Amino acid sequence: MEVVTLDKKSKKVPVRGMMDNVMEQFNSAADHIELHPSIRKILSITNNEIVVHFPVKMDNGDVEIFTGYRVQHNNALGPYKGGLRYHPTVDIDAARALAMWMTWKTSLAGLPYGGGKGGIQLDPSKYSQTELERITRRFTFALADNIGPEHDIPAPDVNTNSQTMAWMADTYMSTRPPAERTANQHVVTGKPDGSGGLEGRDRATGYGVYLTIKYWAERNEESLDNKKFIVQGFGNVGYWAAHFLEQEGAKLVAVQDAFGAIENKEGINVEDLFNYSKVNNGSIVDFPESAVPAQNDFYAIDCDICIPAALGNQITKENAPTIKARLIAEGANGPTNGDGERILLDRGITIIPDILCNSGGVIGSYFEWLQNRNGELWQLDEVMVRLEKKMRESFNKVHAFAQSESMDMRTAAYCIAIKRIEKAYIQRGIFP
Ligand code: GLU
Repeated sequence: MEVVTLDKKSKKVPVRGMMDNVMEQFNSAADHIELHPSIRKILSITNNEIVVHFPVKMDNGDVEIFTGYRVQHNNALGPYKGGLRYHPTVDIDAARALAMWMTWKTSLAGLPYGGGKGGIQLDPSKYSQTELERITRRFTFALADNIGPEHDIPAPDVNTNSQTMAWMADTYMSTRPPAERTANQHVVTGKPDGSGGLEGRDRATGYGVYLTIKYWAERNEESLDNKKFIVQGFGNVGYWAAHFLEQEGAKLVAVQDAFGAIENKEGINVEDLFNYSKVNNGSIVDFPESAVPAQNDFYAIDCDICIPAALGNQITKENAPTIKARLIAEGANGPTNGDGERILLDRGITIIPDILCNSGGVIGSYFEWLQNRNGELWQLDEVMVRLEKKMRESFNKVHAFAQSESMDMRTAAYCIAIKRIEKAYIQRGIFP
């Protein structure tokens, strides 16, 4: 199995294995709940796979062809929902796996959504803002009626943000008949809060990651004060998770991004690092109050809590044996592969699985969608309170199921998510 690395030098990063990873997780939970064989068949494949090739004019006048993906895995519980990422690793296998993870995530969170995912295979750092705008608009146009506010609702993911969503919403709405334009604002979530976005959607994923860590500490009757944590990826998820953990007195001791890693055993100031990265091309490398970690293996750095918040397949049999953390909180989707997971569980390390840990993002998206649909404007404090309530419910459900069945939290989360979808199929039957 090939492994994704965050090393900038390896340009084309293979993601084969992501599909193996999600299918292995699915099958083990399906065995446990004795999932109806017909429903296992349905959930083992994706409903629709849209691949589009589209031309975009570059700033120098040349035309480049891009390939975009949107995989719609399942919509038994509601419209397809999930992000779009811009990254060299985006391909059909990655989109399929990520779409499946969204189906389990939305089901576990109790949302009226199915799962989808997609993106464009590109390295956004190679394009100007105006090129990225044209790429995004043309991609939206190419997806056409395959997305829609009651059908498939994209959101930000790796290397996409509220600006990307604003361009998408604007393009989608501009191509609708005039009377339908504004009514289609909720075709995407994660928009800027001046353009139909939700206050707090920016921090929703990271806040959720932090909350699940807090609930874990509560269960263990521990405080987060002075706990050491490391973060891989200092984008939206990694930064906000670190921000909230720091407020509880936890200490960020190392960070890795696509360009390198930094360490400071005394603690790295999260806001200073964030401000530094903004003026350092988005990278944490060479942050003044830190050094390059002594060991090459980032995951072997001494800490209590480890937050992978970048790409998939980062924790494998190669590095799982030397991980120091007692808790892995999966801010990323699919950061731990099957071999890595078995080693961690054998070593008694707890994993808060991605479909629970990072579900704050899609829960925030659901609030934004409701806000747009109902013509409301929610306040930040209201958003945070509602998010906390949903995260706590999910965590409690998963924790209780894991305890009662003596299983790990990932399998428990999958069992709950799959059962909800199974129930919908059994009630409804299969057309015709
Ligand atoms: N990209 C995020 C995820 O993987 C958010 C998806 C959404 O809000 O639809 O969960």
